[in-house]
Amino acid sequence: MAMRLDGIHHVTCITGDAPRNVDFYTGVLGLRLVKKTVNQDDPTVYHLFYADEEGNPGSDLTFFEYPGARRGRAGDGMVHRISFRVDSEESLDFWADRLAANDVGSEPGEGALRFDDPEGLGLELAVEDTSDAPLTARHPEIPQEHALQGFAGVRAFSADPDASSAFLREALGFERDGEGYEIRGDNRGSFYAYDTPPEDRGVPGAGTVHHVAWASTMDDHAAWRERVAAAGGQPTPIIDRFWFRSIYFREPSGVLFEIATLGPGFTTDEPLEHLGETLVLPPAFEHLRPQVERILTPLPETRPVRTPS
Ligand code: ZN
Repeated sequence: MAMRLDGIHHVTCITGDAPRNVDFYTGVLGLRLVKKTVNQDDPTVYHLFYADEEGNPGSDLTFFEYPGARRGRAGDGMVHRISFRVDSEESLDFWADRLAANDVGSEPGEGALRFDDPEGLGLELAVEDTSDAPLTARHPEIPQEHALQGFAGVRAFSADPDASSAFLREALGFERDGEGYEIRGDNRGSFYAYDTPPEDRGVPGAGTVHHVAWASTMDDHAAWRERVAAAGGQPTPIIDRFWFRSIYFREPSGVLFEIATLGPGFTTDEPLEHLGETLVLPPAFEHLRPQVERILTPLPETRPVRTPS
C-alpha cells in the first residue's frame, strides 16, 4: 500500500491576544477549546487548540500566544487563508448574518464566504462536495447543520509555485486538482493552493499562520521523514509533542510544513468531556507549572458551567 497523508492535521497561527482569540473562535465560530497548554518550544506562552467536539485531527486550529505581539502580514512563502467546510449555501447565509451580528464583515464568493479574524488572519467557509465525515463542535447558538465541519484546505503565497510542484507531488503525494492540489488519505482530504504574493514581504506576527501540519498514521511517520529527507526537504528529527509526533520542514516555496501523527490524541491526559478546561502540561513540562501559571494571561470561560438540575 502506498503511503498517503490524510489531509490537514492542524494549522498553527499566532495571536497577540489570547482572551479575544478564545472569544472569537469559541464564542463566534463555535469551535471547542480542546487543549489549553504551553508552546513546547517556549513554555512561557500559551498554545491553544480549537477543534471539533472530539478534538479530531482535520479540525484542529491552534494558536501560539505572544501577548501584545504586533500584527504580522502574510507574504511570499506563508499561508494566508484557512478554509473550513460548511454544509450548504444556506450555511453561508447563516454565517454572513452571524458574523455581521458580531461586527465581522465578510465577502461572499463562489460557494464561499471570506472574512478575517480580529487580528487580520484570513479565513474562509467553503461548501465542498465531499463525503468526508463532518467534524463539528456544539454551540448553543449555532444549528448543527451550519457548524464548521473541519478544514477544507489552505491557500499560500508563492512567487514561484512551479518550484514546489515536484516536491509536493513526488515526495508528499499531493495531486494536481484544478489550479491547486489535493492531498487525500484513507479518511480525509484537503486542498493546498497558491496565490501570487503581494509586493510587500511577509512579516510574522499576530494574525499570521506559523505552519500547516499534514496527517500521517503512527506507522508511516518515520518513513515520511525519510521520504522528505530523500527529496531534499531537510526535516527536523521526529519530535514527541506528547499528543502527537511531529517533523517540520519547508517546502520549496518556503511554507513551513509539519507532518504530525494521527495519535495518540488529546484524550491521552484528559477525559473527552473535560477537554480544554484546565491548563494541561505534558509530563516533561509539569515542573514549570508554578512559574507558567503566574505568567499566562487568564482566559474567559469557553463553555457555560453545567449546573446539576
Ligand atoms: Zn504543529
